[in-house]
Amino acid sequence: MISSCDLGWIVGIIEGEGCIIFQHGPVIEVRMTDKDIIEKLHRLVKYSIMYSYDGYLRSDKTVYIFTLAGNPAVQWLMTIVSLLGVRRRSKAIEVINLWKSMPYKVDWRFLPQFCRRGHWLTEENIKISVRIGKHDILQRIINYSCRLCINENSVRRHNDIKAA
Ligand SMILES: [Zn+2]
Repeated sequence: MISSCDLGWIVGIIEGEGCIIFQHGPVIEVRMTDKDIIEKLHRLVKYSIMYSYDGYLRSDKTVYIFTLAGNPAVQWLMTIVSLLGVRRRSKAIEVINLWKSMPYKVDWRFLPQFCRRGHWLTEENIKISVRIGKHDILQRIINYSCRLCINENSVRRHNDIKAA
């Protein structure tokens, strides 16, 4: 459980620096040059990811990026929507409504229920990674993969090496 103090802190950061968008699904993103803030946010928000980018907007500073995507992002939006200011609240409602209208249960590009081998893709079993677009760094390519399959593949590779 997150404390109300931490919840208030998170809302403040999202209100001040956050970006709520719909890109293949709901995404909450915060970009900052303050590594400690992004690290704290990442630590407090389960299923979030954190990465960094050097030379953002021709600056020599490293930008730290917090991203929360998919169903966990919608859960957070639903939790904080009433605490947000007018502009971000309307954006959050728009993203929640887009998510509701998506046929996400059958659209593997969004959040599939099962991987190709039939593993149940719970929030614990799904691995989310983000790539930045080659020509446009504002483009984020969000990939989902199955942790069980990743583990099976690494075990198989290990066995192949032993057999060889
Ligand atoms: Zn799998």
